Amino acid sequence: MPPIVQVALDTPLHRLFDYRLPEGLGEVPPGSLVEVPFGRSVQVGVALGQSAETTVDVDKLREVIQVLRDRPALPAEIIRLAQFCADYYHFPLGAILLAALPPRLKNATAFVADTPWLVLTEAGQAAAPSPRARAQCALLDALRAAPQPRETLRAAKQSRHAAALVAAGWAAWSRLPPSTDNPPPTVTPPAATAEQQAALERLLPVLTQFGVHLIHGITGSGKTELYLCLIDEILSRGRQALVLIPEIALTPQLEQHFRRRFPGRRIATLHSGLAEVARAENWLAGFDCDILLGTRLSVFAPLPRLGLIVVDEEHDASFKQQDGLRYSARDLAIARAKQRDVPAVLGSATPSLESYAQALNGRYQLIELKQRAISAAQLPEIELVDLKHIPLDNGLTRPAMQALTDTLARGEQSLVFLNRRGYAPALYCPSCAWVSPCPSCSARLVLHRAASHSTRPNRLKCHHCGLESRIPSACPNCGNPDLKALGQGTQRLEETLSALLPAARIRRIDRDSMRPRAWAELGDAVHGGAVDILVGTQMLAKGHDFPNMTLALILDTDGALYSPDFRATERLFAQLMQVSGRAGRADKPGRVLIQTAFPDHPLFRYLQRHDYPGYARALLAERRQLDLPPYTRQVLLRAEATTMDAALAFLQRAAALAPAVAEVSVFSATPAPMARVARLERAQLLIQSASRLALQQFVRDWRPQFEQIKPRVARWSLDVDPLTF
Ligand code: ADP
Ligand code: ZN
Ligand code: ZN
Repeated sequence: MPPIVQVALDTPLHRLFDYRLPEGLGEVPPGSLVEVPFGRSVQVGVALGQSAETTVDVDKLREVIQVLRDRPALPAEIIRLAQFCADYYHFPLGAILLAALPPRLKNATAFVADTPWLVLTEAGQAAAPSPRARAQCALLDALRAAPQPRETLRAAKQSRHAAALVAAGWAAWSRLPPSTDNPPPTVTPPAATAEQQAALERLLPVLTQFGVHLIHGITGSGKTELYLCLIDEILSRGRQALVLIPEIALTPQLEQHFRRRFPGRRIATLHSGLAEVARAENWLAGFDCDILLGTRLSVFAPLPRLGLIVVDEEHDASFKQQDGLRYSARDLAIARAKQRDVPAVLGSATPSLESYAQALNGRYQLIELKQRAISAAQLPEIELVDLKHIPLDNGLTRPAMQALTDTLARGEQSLVFLNRRGYAPALYCPSCAWVSPCPSCSARLVLHRAASHSTRPNRLKCHHCGLESRIPSACPNCGNPDLKALGQGTQRLEETLSALLPAARIRRIDRDSMRPRAWAELGDAVHGGAVDILVGTQMLAKGHDFPNMTLALILDTDGALYSPDFRATERLFAQLMQVSGRAGRADKPGRVLIQTAFPDHPLFRYLQRHDYPGYARALLAERRQLDLPPYTRQVLLRAEATTMDAALAFLQRAAALAPAVAEVSVFSATPAPMARVARLERAQLLIQSASRLALQQFVRDWRPQFEQIKPRVARWSLDVDPLTF
């Protein structure tokens, strides 16, 4: 009887697949990547176990094609994390394991890892080649001083000698140079502030074990500095640090800062914007780097010496994946820290209410930084411009314009925040009230102006399904040729400001205007004083820290104040705190102006006092009263179908199959708030329980039941701890 291998494959099925291991393929350690036939194609999968038995007729079993020995096996800890993920998110293990791998490693064609460094091996340290091999001796000496880049060796015609040392086992090619004994940082770390010192006194002693520590520190209080101190300590113990951040493209300064602070250390970055090979290389670098800095997908990177996980801006919605495997990287980071018995440090100026509640009830250690690290930096004055009494002209009020003019006159910089990209949110027909509907979604098409130097015409675009179309020359409904742009987007705002302040140098930041690289360039331009006014969406709020920026103008956030989404005010508050934090960071006082028709909304009271804890407690009290997260746990079953009736019918049948559990409430199926996207109707069914365990068990029993329902809808998915509805 030949050995049978159980292989996890990227399929929607919650099971493993048995394959025969033909003789001659050698050992297959668990986690090995293997190529197998599947259906009429071949797939790369993860070999998980072996046995001598199978429930399938052995003769019918198909054979493993090859074991991909050009790449390392997935370490046991990643398999364990994936298993946790499978249980928690009710998602197939195989699909998770394959999602954890960088795409290039899921491709069976041979992978030649780039190993640009020649480094000394342990055997090489004491080795003594024959004195006659003088070149080899010299190279060995050079390696004892420092690793040598392949390019340099090639240029010096040393490749042959390098190969000889490798053949003798005295040197090896490596992905990363080994970390050197910590050379002094190229930036001098500042002496810790009293608050940072107090935080370190609480954190350093507990770095040896699992624990979740929430650092709530106002913008500029020195959270990043605190992470660096903790990482320094972890590295000195020979361990690795994983640092999760929301969006690496927006924070080139952060990576630089890390590199200057730890010049001898091996720092790898990981995010989905990397080219395929680089992404695989950097993922592999997890095996031997010192610090891995990356976005949510990095939570699955191999880190054999993991000693600390930091989640910066832990409240950021980008940590939750919104399709496929709908995981929260923050929550998985905590699960991973627990499995590895290492600390997890979450940091934010506006923690998620989920995390803050855990800190208040003592499950997380709460560490507060209440003062800005640079003592001269004051918190900005926040003023409201009441739109009920002060008229708007092209989206702007007189006081707002006055503030911009004054700031410009002082030679200081301003930012204008409007969370709506494009020229105008819709095109409008004044004669019949047609408002540019998207034919495929329940949304309006957004008017986008072509750049002034571009020959492309203006377009209508759907921000949900991506549909683009030309601007109709007349109303499609009534034929009126006089269509109007309705409302304000960042492009229009930029145009308005340019007309009103012709002397100002204005730059716009949003997804339409920014390539990741342009972001770094823009940062330099603002720092260098080449920009007076930055106009942009929430991208403005992240990353950069501009000392000469003293005014933040916030337009049109009222939609979020009375939104049906119960998290809308939490998110808005975080956003406004963050944008406000951009004003007046150095020694110049900042000013924030918010245009709103609801100046009496409690959110603004707390915002004006910079009182996150106060607002968080108020929101938490409300959530408790309404039985909402974090006081209850939610799972959403989402369905998409060509008709709303079909989507709802599927969910109603699923609800009928739900096991009766006293602690678990099953609500009625309803159309999703955004009921139609890309020609599919969307509906959802909410399941809720105060007990996480009861809810998990419920879904575990329920899923196999509703999976059987015929006819199928186009798509369904389970969203555990949904963030958006
Ligand atoms: P946060 O991440 O909380 O917004 P940062 O760590 O970026 O804050 O620090 C804000 C600013 O204060 C940075 O310019 C940083 O260099 C500076 N800073 C941080 N800690 C100290 C310190 N202990 N002494 C002096 N400056 C500090
Ligand atoms: Zn019309
Ligand atoms: Zn659309």
